[in-house]
Amino acid sequence: MTVEAHKETLDFQAEVSQVLNLVIRSLYSNKEIFLRELVSNASDAAEKLRFEALTDEALFEDDPELRVRVTLDKEAGTVTISDNGIGMSRQEVAETIGTIASSGTRKFFEAMSGDQTKDSELIGQFGVGFYSAFIVADKVTLLTRRAGLGQEHGVRWESDGEGSFTIENVDKATRGTDVVLHLREDEKDFIESYRLRSIISKFSDHITIPVEMEKEHYGEDEEKPETAEFERVNKGTALWMRNRSDISEEEYHEFYKHVSHDFENPLTHVHNKVEGNNEYTALLYIPQRAPFDLWDRDQKHGVKLFVRRVFIMDEADKLMPRYLRFVKGVVDSDDLPLNVSREILQHNRKIDTIRQANVKRIMSALEKLAESDKEKYQTFWDEFGKVMKEGPAEDYANRDRIAGLLRFATTHNETDEQNVSLVDYVSRMQEGQDKIYYITADSPAAARFSPHLEVLKKKGVEVLLLSDRVDEWLVTSLTEFDGKQLQSVAKGALDLGELEDKEEKESSEKQSEEHKELLQRMQDVLGEAVKEIRVSQRLTDSPACLVVEEHDMSANLARVLKSVGQDAPQTKPIMEINAEHPLVERLEGEQDGDKFGDLTKVLFDQAQLAEGGQLDDPAAFVRRLNSLMLKLTAG
Ligand code: ADP
Ligand code: MG
Repeated sequence: MTVEAHKETLDFQAEVSQVLNLVIRSLYSNKEIFLRELVSNASDAAEKLRFEALTDEALFEDDPELRVRVTLDKEAGTVTISDNGIGMSRQEVAETIGTIASSGTRKFFEAMSGDQTKDSELIGQFGVGFYSAFIVADKVTLLTRRAGLGQEHGVRWESDGEGSFTIENVDKATRGTDVVLHLREDEKDFIESYRLRSIISKFSDHITIPVEMEKEHYGEDEEKPETAEFERVNKGTALWMRNRSDISEEEYHEFYKHVSHDFENPLTHVHNKVEGNNEYTALLYIPQRAPFDLWDRDQKHGVKLFVRRVFIMDEADKLMPRYLRFVKGVVDSDDLPLNVSREILQHNRKIDTIRQANVKRIMSALEKLAESDKEKYQTFWDEFGKVMKEGPAEDYANRDRIAGLLRFATTHNETDEQNVSLVDYVSRMQEGQDKIYYITADSPAAARFSPHLEVLKKKGVEVLLLSDRVDEWLVTSLTEFDGKQLQSVAKGALDLGELEDKEEKESSEKQSEEHKELLQRMQDVLGEAVKEIRVSQRLTDSPACLVVEEHDMSANLARVLKSVGQDAPQTKPIMEINAEHPLVERLEGEQDGDKFGDLTKVLFDQAQLAEGGQLDDPAAFVRRLNSLMLKLTAG
């Protein structure tokens, strides 16, 4: 067969070279992992083939024994990792090797601090497995051919990792991928069979596909054959099938790195075998750090589904709800059919049961962690809290349990760290307090210093400070906890119930009556901009604030929606004024209509600014403020 070579030399994406350099530098102290990563890719490729071949046996060609081989060539100075897995087409090579696809790239660079130690921790989260080859190699050649007899040519990719790579079509008789590492001068001592064997045992023992090396030792009566014979190096019993008591912590960790493509150890794991009429094993891990694609809609690698040890698919959303999408691991079912398709998974009772049980297991693991190791739990919360907050809306049935795991910043703490549970909050509720108060804003500072909190601060009532975007979403579904209603301090009339004594209640009614005329004059100035103006029960220090009606969309949510280009209904705010504030007293005495108008508008604009809003006409605000200041300085 003649093949048109089509040799191209292409530049790496600019970012790839940078990532490469960082990988080499930061993983240098742990060089051996290059083999783990390449064997892991090879075994993934073999598992993909095994799965695709369930419906298309021809993919096996004449070679159904899947395996990974590690060979070495002392003279050439190379180590080669080959598999007879699914292989790649030219387009797949160009897309996956040489570009770092996914929006993860940009986020990765945003997260990079320039501090090498910190950045090298980030690397692990980023799925740079293949590039780890360049830790030990100064040239990498990849030869691959997609499985299936119709595939007319293979592909050769080569790079020195310095900024460009070549790609061309070649003949390749066998399917699968060979990755040839031309070792750097000072890394040649990796070309030793015993060394490679020990690395494979250390990192890849649990891989179910055989990882083979050339047989070297023959008995006295045996003759070394002409063509190389291979023997299996890894034990290959699926780790999750073994008894918990026989698995070391280190083995759990190595397996985690293989399934999750993470370089760090997990935070914790749960491992269960379930018997009965839906038999399966679940080994689930909670990572230490959020991956870069946590917010990616089409993020991959979650919980893998196996059926009787055969890999079926990466299908996080069927085995875990979206708000637990950070969970990694495997579920291996004894009862599902091998040819299970995505469609079947959608409506499969057994899968539903497994998924519900998985949720319960993760909940228990998190509850235990929160109980036994607050610091570790905090690590978890800081990384995954925002995702967990999607839980109450998505998983109504488990709402109370999820609520117990949530952590918040509150006015009780000096810092904005999210570390207060609702149980803590309830335990600190004041005599006569029957609600859990919260405020939503677009930054921790805007929440903490919002005028809406003033009276609650004075009364020593704790308020949850919600400033993650997802919080608005959270409070629409989490409306109560432990029988106590969650109440926004920026909505409705702020009925403080028994927190207010009789005298305070009376005085507020009296005040509205007393200032009727002022309220009317202000309403005339502001017109359509406000729904109503009333005397506030919320304020102690600020002259005014804006609130919305109990069932209206919060101003913060309207801003969030606008910022992502969505329509938000125009909700007119209610303006509340603090009748005891000197500025308001001054306003009440103002007879000059122009001055009254200016001052009223400035108070309204200020109230918008104080809650993090934007003015429709900032220039007019500045003009009015300046004219007031001039009058002030003029004495
Ligand atoms: P990850 O394994 O996390 O996806 P890698 O950098 O290790 O990231 O690999 C990138 C991609 O390259 C893989 O997802 C796969 O599509 C492809 N790939 C790498 N090695 C092989 C292989 N031996 N056979 C087939 N595809 C491979
Ligand atoms: Mg990989």
